[in-house]
Amino acid sequence: MNQSVTDQDVLDAYQKVTNEIDVETRRLQVQIGGSPCPANCYDCCHNTATMTISEIEARDLRIGLQKLPKEIQSHILEKACKSITKLEAAGFLEENTPEASGMDMIDALKGTPEGACPMLVGGVCSVYNHRPIICRVWGYPMNNGNEIGCCWKTFIGRRKEYTPIQYNRYWEECRDLSKATGNISRTPNCYLVKNLLS
Ligand code: SF4
Ligand code: SF4
Repeated sequence: MNQSVTDQDVLDAYQKVTNEIDVETRRLQVQIGGSPCPANCYDCCHNTATMTISEIEARDLRIGLQKLPKEIQSHILEKACKSITKLEAAGFLEENTPEASGMDMIDALKGTPEGACPMLVGGVCSVYNHRPIICRVWGYPMNNGNEIGCCWKTFIGRRKEYTPIQYNRYWEECRDLSKATGNISRTPNCYLVKNLLS
């Protein structure tokens, strides 16, 4: 990292990114008169045990995990380890994950309890204020660089009526902030959580 840029500077810059995203989601909430998601829905957390997380997001996530009671941390670690065990049984090894196809890893756990995000505890995101940026924008129309994406359950038939969240720009900012830390790798969720909590 550039010696004049501290870890705290990078985290502060990331905080600005997440604050901007939160302003954007609130803009859309005001426009539609509330949250786009049905009550008690957390389907989008079900197949995210292997979603990849950047270094800057991981640094913020570490802060969120450290705030949790020890017994919740142990529960999350246990869930992450179960996902990893299932991945290993399917032939995926942690040291090979950069070469592994993300979709193949998702398919190995899809629809199983081990496919769920380890940080989903009792139907609630245990690290809500520190969650990765994709978790903040899912459910809202977003520009991912190629097209306007959105959760299939929200903004049905009216996605083009709203100015989308510029997800591609926020993602690029995360990539640049990760680069400033000297680590541009993206780590699958369950491996990252295990490393942060072990
Ligand atoms: S970090 Fe939170 S919001 Fe994101 S997938 Fe996990 S439980 Fe869901
Ligand atoms: S984004 Fe979609 S899957 Fe996730 S909570 Fe909202 S409606 Fe449910």
